Amino acid sequence: MYDFIIIGGGILGMSTAMQLKRAYPDKRMLLLEKESGPGRHQTGHNSGVIHAGVYYTPGSLKAKFCLEGNRATRAFCDEHEIPYDCCGKLLVATNVLEVERMKALWDRTEANGLEREWLTAEQLAEREPNITGVGAIFVPSSGIVDYSRVAQAMAAEFERMGGVIEYGQAVTALEERRQEVVVATTGGTWPTRYLVTCAGLMADRVIRMLGQSPGFTICPFRGEYYRLSSQHDQIVNHLIYPIPDPSMPFLGVHLTRMIDGSVTLGPNAVLALAREGYRRRDISPRDLVGMATHLGVLKVLWRHMKPGMREMKNSLSRRGYLDEVRKYCPSLMLEDLEPWPAGVRAQAVSRDGRLVDDFLFVNTPRTVNVGNAPSPAATSAIPIGAHIVGKVREQVEGQV
Ligand SMILES: Cc1cc2nc3c(=O)[nH]c(=O)nc-3n(C[C@H](O)[C@H](O)[C@H](O)COP(=O)(O)OP(=O)(O)OC[C@H]3O[C@@H](n4cnc5c(N)ncnc54)[C@H](O)[C@@H]3O)c2cc1C
Repeated sequence: MYDFIIIGGGILGMSTAMQLKRAYPDKRMLLLEKESGPGRHQTGHNSGVIHAGVYYTPGSLKAKFCLEGNRATRAFCDEHEIPYDCCGKLLVATNVLEVERMKALWDRTEANGLEREWLTAEQLAEREPNITGVGAIFVPSSGIVDYSRVAQAMAAEFERMGGVIEYGQAVTALEERRQEVVVATTGGTWPTRYLVTCAGLMADRVIRMLGQSPGFTICPFRGEYYRLSSQHDQIVNHLIYPIPDPSMPFLGVHLTRMIDGSVTLGPNAVLALAREGYRRRDISPRDLVGMATHLGVLKVLWRHMKPGMREMKNSLSRRGYLDEVRKYCPSLMLEDLEPWPAGVRAQAVSRDGRLVDDFLFVNTPRTVNVGNAPSPAATSAIPIGAHIVGKVREQVEGQV
């Protein structure tokens, strides 16, 4: 019998496992992951940005955990000799409407306690000769890292303390009893006293295995990228983001310096036809039926029909995609865009048709489950793990 089982070998599962083992060094712990290694889904397919906490509603878990996570991620990388670069980020306005939105973002950065600087068009041009805009906000604490490496280091730390990781174990059934939770996988059955689930794109399904009705479904949104050809590796000195449209749930296509020295363009946001559908042609009948019969998903698609169609069009046309970026980086040409693997975001959609904005957890007497953990959850992985350990501690102490 294990004391704790953690499901999911992404950055949240690994961060939680590591911190749980630190909190309870003598307890037996097992992490189960269906893939053959850590970070094979969202954790290994993202922009690699250590977010500063610009966008999030003041007082939300996202705002709190992102700010804490920015510092904690850098400290963890220092401790484990993982390369990162605190290169800073520019949010660039390209017209009068965006300047208005920029003012609202400026107020939000203040409410969220961020250091930042307002740049005029001339100051922007000085910092970024290849970027054009009428103004920008500079946020110095944004950075870049490879989150797969962070997750790997967390996994190694968990194992070093005596935790066990079993890869290639897809959890197929869960049963919560009075004294234990029974976890069945494709390879065996394990009883445990407590269970934590961090299943990303499968979060709602795993919660349903516990007999819970979570009130949301996970809707997969593919984020497609291009990489700039290597002669453009120096095209920008910072991360370059557009000023987001507040009615849109995602941040808009950005120019991202990657930790390997390359620069990517993206991600857009198109509905994926499979939860783990990294290619346009990937279709899962089960996932499609799930979305087509969920009233909340249908409402979201209806409400975002116009921007959704635009994203779809730009996904199919490199020219359309490029035009989005040329608004602030006019020198880029079609031939500068090289293919780069997409990621799929796990976004919870509520029954009443809302994209769940904040991080969300679903707890039962012996389990803590991550329900919604979209960006900036990679940045926030350490405080999210600490939050989960706090919830588990309440359960353990409540049972004594
Ligand atoms: C395109 C894109 C760009 C992003 N950019 C950023 C960014 O720049 N900065 C940032 O902070 N965040 C970013 N994010 C968000 C961030 O990547 C995720 O929020 C974070 O990785 C979530 O981690 P996770 O551990 O919850 O999920 P995942 O990494 O998806 O891990 C979940 C794991 O659970 C496993 N699993 C699921 N079901 C089962 C089962 N039944 N049995 C066993 N195992 C199971 C999966 O195989 C998977 O390994 C981005 C995300 C995407 C998709």
